[in-house]
Amino acid sequence: MWILDELKKRSDSDVTALIHRERDISFQELWKQSEIMAEYFKQHCQTKAPIVIYGNKDIEITVLMLAALKSGRAYVPLDITFPANRVETIMQDVENELLFNFSGETVNLPEECREIGKRELLSLLQGNPEGTIIPEQDYVQGEDNCYILFTSGSTGKPKGVQISKKNIVNFTSWFAKACELSADKQVVLNQVSYSFDVSVIPLYIYLAMGKTLFSIDKEMLDNTRLLFRYLKESHIAAWVSTPAFLEICSFDDSFDEKMLPELENIILAGEVLTKKLVSVLHKKFSGAKVINGYGPTEGTVLLSACEITEEMLANEKSLPIGMILDDGYYEIQDDKNHPVAVGESGELVVVSDSISKGYFKNPEQTAKAFFKAEDGRMGYRTGDLVFEENGLLYYITRKDTQIKLNGFRIELNDISSNLNLLDIVNNSVVLPVYKEGRVAYLTAFVVLNYKSELSDLKTGIAIKKELKEKIPSYMIPRKIVILEKFPMNINGKIDRKKLAEDYL
Ligand code: AMP
Repeated sequence: MWILDELKKRSDSDVTALIHRERDISFQELWKQSEIMAEYFKQHCQTKAPIVIYGNKDIEITVLMLAALKSGRAYVPLDITFPANRVETIMQDVENELLFNFSGETVNLPEECREIGKRELLSLLQGNPEGTIIPEQDYVQGEDNCYILFTSGSTGKPKGVQISKKNIVNFTSWFAKACELSADKQVVLNQVSYSFDVSVIPLYIYLAMGKTLFSIDKEMLDNTRLLFRYLKESHIAAWVSTPAFLEICSFDDSFDEKMLPELENIILAGEVLTKKLVSVLHKKFSGAKVINGYGPTEGTVLLSACEITEEMLANEKSLPIGMILDDGYYEIQDDKNHPVAVGESGELVVVSDSISKGYFKNPEQTAKAFFKAEDGRMGYRTGDLVFEENGLLYYITRKDTQIKLNGFRIELNDISSNLNLLDIVNNSVVLPVYKEGRVAYLTAFVVLNYKSELSDLKTGIAIKKELKEKIPSYMIPRKIVILEKFPMNINGKIDRKKLAEDYL
């Protein structure tokens, strides 16, 4: 299944492809506008460098993504939660010639880069001649990158995961079976930020199937009344999100099958799915099937998935994450990279055509996590500890200090590295605070370089404010604890365990 082949079949269709608030676009217009922009890229770019798109859920973002694919370029979607500073760091690596900026933020551009805002884009889309046809040989091919997603990196600099056409075709061909809706059902939720790859499910599967994507932007997410007003009118038949987002919606009594009477599929991915949430969903949406999808960005959205049944809920174990996709093979390995006995826990290592070729311009990090298997395909060490039972995999925890907070992937060292860049900070440690088995928020412990004139509380607020200029808002620790010095363990390292015992 390949999105451009599928959309081409619908290039004359008046059916609505995307809805965002009061605006919409048909499949025909989407095709035409992406042709116009692909032609623009061909004419105005000297290189095949990726196109960077900094924004949220505007309809034109999808136009640009498709245009990039048609012109043989990758796109880099950066969400508005990214501060301009982080966007600038990423652009240094990407060396993009064009930045589409819908964020309202001011970005310092490198010399060779041109910025295009929404207004200019809308006029470009109008001003171009009708009938542009981009030849298929110009489209991205097999190993070419379609997108590069920048995810939290432990050094404080985000890592760019490169995903090719081959990766996407492999993933979508496998997972599309789980996404099927009844023939008369049409609308699919498009909520997940484009900088997080769960958004690939609505875009590369449902849109390609001819379904209508119903977009939810950040302002709607921050205002439940507004969100529910739109949801009530949405006719959504497939829901795709992190468990965290669906859980927030589920807290409200009015969020049930009366609000979404057509809901058939609930696809949850990106973090641990709890039995509590699935039980609530089974009650609220009795006719809908709930799917638990597991996978890292490096493995193209999902490496395994399964429907959660009543029997699984009744079982005393946690919920399974399913079985590895059909083209792939896997091993569960111990610390010495040897396979463990069946039922034992270890790190999940996967070989598949869905595995990325590695991190963008980052051979060092690529070598740590990726490898070439004997059959020539790419393999990836997930860093996730799992075990297998009765043909199903079960997620246990991470091997490292990567966490998920409200569905967002965060390297704790990414935050402390950026904290340490602040003038006032000498050293820092960031720890997660767990509630009911999930990360509820983050606390940063900080030793200062010099004594602040402000109270600890105000110093903490000032630190957070400065940190917001460096890392996305979802990574900002809720609490900042200022210490005279860190407790040390017998190896002379900061004693994280003691910090947690004393303060969390
Ligand atoms: P990301 O690259 O943002 O998709 O994050 C990938 C990581 O999220 C995985 O390596 C897991 O640690 C975690 N994760 C993703 N899906 C699940 C799931 N269904 N259950 C448990 N953990 C998950």
